[in-house]
Amino acid sequence: MNTPQLFESLATKVWPMARRFARISRRCRGCILSERHSTFISGRCPICASGSGESKVVSPMVPHAERQRFDAIVRGYTRGKRYDALFLLSGGKDSAYLLHRMRTEYPDLKLLCVTVNNGFMSSVAVANAHDVAERFQTDLLVHNASIGEFARVLRDAFLSLNGCGSYGVVDKADGDLIFATGRALAREMGIPAMIAGLSWVQLEQIMGITTFEMTEPAGPHSLFPLAVWRTGEQEIRQAVRDLRLMRPGSDSPVVSNSELILAMSVIDVLTLGYSSFEPEFAQLVREGKTDRQVWLHTFELLEFAATRGLLNKDLRRGLSKLGLTPEDVMKKELP
Ligand SMILES: [Zn+2]
Repeated sequence: MNTPQLFESLATKVWPMARRFARISRRCRGCILSERHSTFISGRCPICASGSGESKVVSPMVPHAERQRFDAIVRGYTRGKRYDALFLLSGGKDSAYLLHRMRTEYPDLKLLCVTVNNGFMSSVAVANAHDVAERFQTDLLVHNASIGEFARVLRDAFLSLNGCGSYGVVDKADGDLIFATGRALAREMGIPAMIAGLSWVQLEQIMGITTFEMTEPAGPHSLFPLAVWRTGEQEIRQAVRDLRLMRPGSDSPVVSNSELILAMSVIDVLTLGYSSFEPEFAQLVREGKTDRQVWLHTFELLEFAATRGLLNKDLRRGLSKLGLTPEDVMKKELP
């Protein structure tokens, strides 16, 4: 059992009881944000406290006209050439679900799945990408050629953290390079569109956009269907399970995600007191798009384990892939 699997198992089986006795920071009664993130007002974070006492806000509906526009754009790319769209397949549950839906709803759209390996992809994620591409009879290109470039970019990102959250620095640098790699491939191969499984929350928080598309003069036209469909996380997990799109036990984001995410999360907890991934999940909880308890327990256990030094070995291993040590990245000693 590797650390993410062990973590997942502890979070669901042991932590629900153990958390009562563990000393960790308080978390918002509405979402999951830690009190280390912002000052609470009667047990709630400022965002939940300002929301008329309701913890759930409804995720804004995407207007019908916008959905139709998305549909027309996608259909417009069905041209009968070799590939109509490059599909960024990460090996995680969101992109597996997305590929299933795109193949079901747009069977004539010819997709080239591309898995961009950043050097941190787990073997589970690579295997899942392979399985799901085969399942939906799409071509798959595993792009390993940029691993060296990823190492340089990620190393620089870690070194420029300076106590800031890694979500907006390291994770963003990783996402940006994956995108740039996909875009360059699409341009070289004359593929007009690119499809990726970012959620509307990620688009908003990482890219600063509130629509389902991104255009560039040199192409391709980037499309984010989840921003139109607004499928909740539990719904995606359920569909992935029902359709058996992932290997058993690998549909959890903690398990299918990379050592990189773990390293980022541990550094965040040790420097900020919380993981900078928490606001994304807090927003999904507020919108009723994910299970509060799953993420509450996950982030609580992460805080507990990281502050007790239980993840030091994983942190060292992750960073050593970039030729870094925790001491290079943080101005403080490990617990
Ligand atoms: Zn809150």
